[in-house]
Amino acid sequence: MALPELRLRENVPGDFFVDSTCIDCDLCRQIAPETFRDIGDQSAVHHQPETPAQEFAALKALVTCPTASIGTISHRSAKEAVAAYPELVDENVYFCGFASESSYGASSYLIVRPEGNVLIDSPRFVVPLVKRIEALGGLTTMFLTHRDDVADHQKWADHFKAERIMHREDIGRSTQDIERRLTGRQPIELAKDLLAIPTPGHTRGHTVLLYRDQYLFSGDHLWWSETYNSLNASHSVCWYSWSEQTRSMESLLDYRFEWVLPGHGRRIHLSSSLMLEQLERCVTRMKHTSRAAS
Ligand code: SF4
Repeated sequence: MALPELRLRENVPGDFFVDSTCIDCDLCRQIAPETFRDIGDQSAVHHQPETPAQEFAALKALVTCPTASIGTISHRSAKEAVAAYPELVDENVYFCGFASESSYGASSYLIVRPEGNVLIDSPRFVVPLVKRIEALGGLTTMFLTHRDDVADHQKWADHFKAERIMHREDIGRSTQDIERRLTGRQPIELAKDLLAIPTPGHTRGHTVLLYRDQYLFSGDHLWWSETYNSLNASHSVCWYSWSEQTRSMESLLDYRFEWVLPGHGRRIHLSSSLMLEQLERCVTRMKHTSRAAS
């Protein structure tokens, strides 16, 4: 629970505030940009919500915040905001909210499909979200893009008896019971509509998931940058190999998709041709960065 005594001085006066435990995951700024802003390495309230829509968005940010750093002096009820998740992004693809501190506030997603629902990366295991996912048909599969965003995967898998899928190169102590381990660097068809594409670079076993040639769940490999107004990857958060990540990015040019749904960073929806243009520019920049670094 956010503590008024830890309230950041950058917050404007009023009911909503961010306290000093904020880890700068960016989610509140994505969910409620009218209320929260970047103050360097944390977020703060720059404008108190005035309309019901702004208040609802701010409360959704409050329940999604991985560190419970957002609070209200009046202890407003967040019941409706809790019930908003999973929140529809497009067609049958949902954003789960309820980010976990152990995955540094990574976004997780749910695909609702007749063949069985798929959870991509792990939100916090909380009862309201569990119940909502039960009502949407439960889970048959958990796809874990990489080692950093696994959070409460064990609890989700145990509860729903879901099969977890992850690349073998990213298996660690907390994921040693993963049911299905992917190997190699070739794409693997998990189902007619689901393609796992190994994208080593950010981590050795990073893998993205392409759904229906439309939605790319990109983990920490690729995201939309509001700052640069472009698809982006960053050398500064590449934990394994930037040259590998550049090659992995180039291999994505063989695929078509309209959405990029990342773990960290902003999601984006473009036509497949514009997405391809963006991806080509991203690869070019990455190659330039590689040359500059060598
Ligand atoms: S969601 Fe929470 S941790 Fe993330 S930037 Fe906002 S206040 Fe900070």
